[in-house]
Amino acid sequence: MLIKLSDLGSSLPLSTLTTGTPVTTFTTTIPVTTPPPAPSVERIPATLEQEYYKIYLEPNLINNTFRGQVEYQFRCLRSTPLIHLHMVDLMIHNSSISITFPTSGSPQYESWDYDKYNEFMIIRFDSNFVEGTVYHLNISYSGILSDSLTGLYISKYNDTKNQPKTLMTSQMEPTHARTAFPCIDEPGRKAIFQISIRHNSPYTVWSNTRAESEIDQGDGTIITTFKPTLKMSTFILALIMALEQDFGCRQAQAVPGYKNSSHIIQSRVCGRKDILEQLAYAEEVATESLRFFNEYYDMDYPLEKIDHFAVPDFGAGAMENYGLLIYREVGLFFDEKTVSASRKQYITTVVAHEVAHQWFGNLVSPEWWGELWLKEGFASYMETLASDRIEPDWKQDERFVVEKIFSFMEADSLPTSRPISINSTNPADIFQLFDSITYDKGATLIRMMSMFLGNTTFQEGIQNYLKNLSYSSAKEDDLWSYLSTAAKDTISVGIIMNGWTRQPGYPVVEIQRTYGTTKQLDITQTPFSLFSSETKDEKWWIPFKYFDTQTVNRADSQTLIWINETTKTISITTDDDKWILANPGYLGIYRTKYDQENFRLILEQLKQDHTRIPVITRGALIDDTFALIRTGKVNTTDAYKLLGYLKNEREFVPWTGAFSAMRYQEDLLSGTEILNSVQEHFLELILPLYNQIGWDPVDQSKDWLTALLQPSVLSASCRYGHKNCIDSARSRFLRWKMNPSLNQIPATLRSTVYCIAIRDGTTDDFNFLWDRLQSEAVASEVLNLLNGMACTRDNNLMVFFLNQHLKNNSAIREQDMAASLERIARSPQGNYQAWTYVRENWSKLFAKFGRSLVLGDIIDAVTNRFVTTIQRDEFKAFADSIPDKGTASRQFILSMDKINAAINWRNQNIDPLTEYIDPSGLATDKSQRLPSDVVPTRYSLWIKPYLNITNDNLRFSVFDGVVNISLNVRHETNRIVLHTKYIDIINVRLISSDNTQVTTHSFDEERDFFIIMLNKNLTLGSSPTLYIQYVGELRNDTYGFYLSSYVRSDKTRGYLVASQMEPIAARRALPCFDEPALKARYVIAVEHDKRYTAQSNMEATGPPIPVPNDNDWVTTTFAESVPMSSYLLGLVVSDFKCITNTTTGRWRNITTRACAQQEKVEELDYALTVASQNIEDFEIQYDLSYPLRKVDHIAVPDFDAGAMENWGIIIYRETRLFYNIKTSTSSNKQDVALVIVHELAHQWFGDLVSPAWWDDLWLNEGIIKKYKKFSLDKPSLVSYLRARKL
Ligand SMILES: [Zn+2]
Repeated sequence: MLIKLSDLGSSLPLSTLTTGTPVTTFTTTIPVTTPPPAPSVERIPATLEQEYYKIYLEPNLINNTFRGQVEYQFRCLRSTPLIHLHMVDLMIHNSSISITFPTSGSPQYESWDYDKYNEFMIIRFDSNFVEGTVYHLNISYSGILSDSLTGLYISKYNDTKNQPKTLMTSQMEPTHARTAFPCIDEPGRKAIFQISIRHNSPYTVWSNTRAESEIDQGDGTIITTFKPTLKMSTFILALIMALEQDFGCRQAQAVPGYKNSSHIIQSRVCGRKDILEQLAYAEEVATESLRFFNEYYDMDYPLEKIDHFAVPDFGAGAMENYGLLIYREVGLFFDEKTVSASRKQYITTVVAHEVAHQWFGNLVSPEWWGELWLKEGFASYMETLASDRIEPDWKQDERFVVEKIFSFMEADSLPTSRPISINSTNPADIFQLFDSITYDKGATLIRMMSMFLGNTTFQEGIQNYLKNLSYSSAKEDDLWSYLSTAAKDTISVGIIMNGWTRQPGYPVVEIQRTYGTTKQLDITQTPFSLFSSETKDEKWWIPFKYFDTQTVNRADSQTLIWINETTKTISITTDDDKWILANPGYLGIYRTKYDQENFRLILEQLKQDHTRIPVITRGALIDDTFALIRTGKVNTTDAYKLLGYLKNEREFVPWTGAFSAMRYQEDLLSGTEILNSVQEHFLELILPLYNQIGWDPVDQSKDWLTALLQPSVLSASCRYGHKNCIDSARSRFLRWKMNPSLNQIPATLRSTVYCIAIRDGTTDDFNFLWDRLQSEAVASEVLNLLNGMACTRDNNLMVFFLNQHLKNNSAIREQDMAASLERIARSPQGNYQAWTYVRENWSKLFAKFGRSLVLGDIIDAVTNRFVTTIQRDEFKAFADSIPDKGTASRQFILSMDKINAAINWRNQNIDPLTEYIDPSGLATDKSQRLPSDVVPTRYSLWIKPYLNITNDNLRFSVFDGVVNISLNVRHETNRIVLHTKYIDIINVRLISSDNTQVTTHSFDEERDFFIIMLNKNLTLGSSPTLYIQYVGELRNDTYGFYLSSYVRSDKTRGYLVASQMEPIAARRALPCFDEPALKARYVIAVEHDKRYTAQSNMEATGPPIPVPNDNDWVTTTFAESVPMSSYLLGLVVSDFKCITNTTTGRWRNITTRACAQQEKVEELDYALTVASQNIEDFEIQYDLSYPLRKVDHIAVPDFDAGAMENWGIIIYRETRLFYNIKTSTSSNKQDVALVIVHELAHQWFGDLVSPAWWDDLWLNEGIIKKYKKFSLDKPSLVSYLRARKL
């Protein structure tokens, strides 16, 4: 069937590949309670040969039941009085059991027994069936339409009016057909099926074949009978019954046969009617894949039609039912706006995969589940060939290495791994076969064969295999013999491949060079395993190739050397000072270990010019080396040295290997002291790539793999705390939150952005996504939202979120449970929460998922990051407490192995690694002051705050900003350092007369430094201009430009922007030199809603000017300021009202205004009087005229300090400025007067003459609180500031 759930890939597809498994010397054995192995499942005896089933079904979507009748035609091969059929959970109408043909002389029904273990219904008759005779058996029964996504089941959805509705769909693989009708439910026992279904007339039905007749029953129901199928297995039967008003298909595309062009195949894509246009891409992939495989297999798809149907609830990724392929909606729907690069690729490969199955699996089926890989491995390999045809630029081979080879090699190195082919299976095992070994190792083995046989021979072999075994079943020996024949028996494929399919695991190949006169390679193979103390003597036939600097460009055509012995020696000619590398293109399935000297030569090459080594080999080096450190075969520090060259690496395969290695290292080092230093080290390696790729959407048509890589790069950079990354993610999220109907976050980045925003966000942010989810119809966006919500660090929200998966009528589907748990468990805190949740809800989870693959995934998800003995003991206690582990039994053992290996790795590696990482080596100059090389003279600032807010719950908003900073160069330097905080830099340019340019920029989060590097030194005394475009946050924390609000008497809420820069918040408002001594002039322009008024330090140069092409916005520009410190910058954008005195001051040339929310403006009369009189007093007292033309006194609803003396725009907490003659006391009156006087005094002391530097204490956030206390306490404030600022 099915692409496993995990293969769906989140939008962070690459980081999900990483959950690896450590390998190390294993000394302590922790017994896991393992139930005795279940007996193999019995096969249905071959006494009767099934030929034909006539199936009649009557589903009832009101009470979720169905009635059925089956007429089973068989031929007796060996005389017997018994009929064995598979049957589960059906209520058989005993009186209906009878042999209906031949009508006379047939055996009579006596009774039936049930064999629960084998799921057999064994029907006994009064006499023997006669050899060679054909009989018809009739059985009527009824059953329940399940809600567990198996058999015939109910799928739920909300229609376009958001009304809950249901449809019936099906999933028969592997053993669910027996829940729909009694049958011989084995893949090798093929028959012809004819299905009839009685349904209400508003419903349409689909099945494997076209409808043959539709008979109106005159009671509002219709009986639709489908054409008989070709001879096929039960597991690919399919049936869908859905409301015609909600579900339908796009117009069929006619695909002519390749062999027989008059055989026209109608290819259709189907799903929810209202979004059928989103199926256009899937439609193209469907028809192209069909064309490709018709040609590649040299055999036409034999049916008249092939429907690809997207249903809302589907357990697997997709299912290849003959002629009616069923998908999850994410597998088919494609909306350019919301679908990321990885999902587009997923759609392509999943459709190609299912189409490939129409031959491998449907036409020729595995004889038994034990050789499931014969179809799944094949389809997983073939999907890449078809995708390569459809999207030639996607570098399928590089993807194959990452997504298939890297991914199964983890699981296959565990002691619990299994051979890809197994003989015996018990019922639960059948479900557990749908794993990475079957899919990815299977595909890799097939790729290996096509590589050592050559594509042409390989293709010829499988064409013959398909042609000769059509409509029947096959074992792997059949495949070997067809491939050997195609190779003209020059090679025995069976002998080579048996070791690969009948043994678990794969080898590690150690290459020891002999240097000097006798140049040779000693090549040793040993099984690669977690348990190096365990001796195994397994051997493989290894197709071995190597290359050096001379042969690197023709590595593929190097002689193939077969290694089937433990050690083999070959002579070489490579010079001693040149490296050799093995396994070009990852031809063979093995890990490679080199001797120390050769490894050193490789590191040297990577450092000098890594591009001399092919991309896949670079990736393999990283992946192999990090796997080998877990066995102790390679030193951990050597592996870290290998990563050093990544600063220059830009390619998909090596980086994916590296991200995987880094993620796993983080998990292993969880809770240790060196984790932070290791993360810093990783971030340093990633930053050059981050700076190159950045946040702008990558052109997928030009650089597909970089587009795929981008989310991983951003996700890792943010995870390692890169400030710019986090700020960028957050500002994108806030912008969307402000205007929910317009989500401008590129599809590829949504999952990352949502995750970062939720991780550090509020309940309100979480609720925002939750609200979006309620009405989100696009399947891939639903996944983005789920991924985002799973990143919360709030325990209550985690539990709420997980509970929603199990609730009826929830916006979250149960199918997403394992993936959500996995994501929650990625943080240490989430891991604990997820683990607790699974333990507390085990019986519920078992009831839901005990029969499906999901249960094992759940255990894997919560235990993946267990690395301590405490966690191991908890896990063991839990495992011991549940005797029946259902389909998860293997996973329990596997998880225990993983945990033990992680514990051992930590014991051995943390000390040497700590020494290597050496935190003291990372320490740099941590002066808190800006360098004095470059200083500002003038800021020209434009900002646009967004205040068109409709949602009262909104907590944050954003603003756009552009600043041009005129600089004065005091010392030659090639860097400019200024401050930023909570600012997302969009663009940085330097405008200079000598064409000096910005090369890179970076952030030092600890010091709020924004460091800009230039291509050459700035000339002494020159005056370049720095241009910076950015997005800032309007937070509600009363610092920087901040968002404030008040409630009017009619309960409506008014919003405003206010500001508070002192001491170090100007850096939140604009990139600036945020030190008090670095004064400059400011020209400020504010673009704002025309219903608002903007006020700043200086007077406006005129009335607001309308913004061209936008009737609602105007620009207010202010006069150039006097030179002032950044901490004095002031801005208020509000719908406040002011009262004015235009004749203030000694020369009556100053305007004083007092402003507040409109309803309270009359309480300002007293403040205006005091403010006007005191300006005059101060001018006289100091004999210094006030240098500005106006001073505003503005009362804002939430202001952290009591008042702030911004030059020309003094901001007060409301209560400090209001005086109501009726309600205020005389002490209030005195307070108002005092605070105004003191703030006015500051216009001279502090503003005119500023401190050279803040007391160092002030830089500490904790001391800011102390400062607030000062400002509330007037006498000490005044004395403190006087002492400081004079
Ligand atoms: Zn498949």
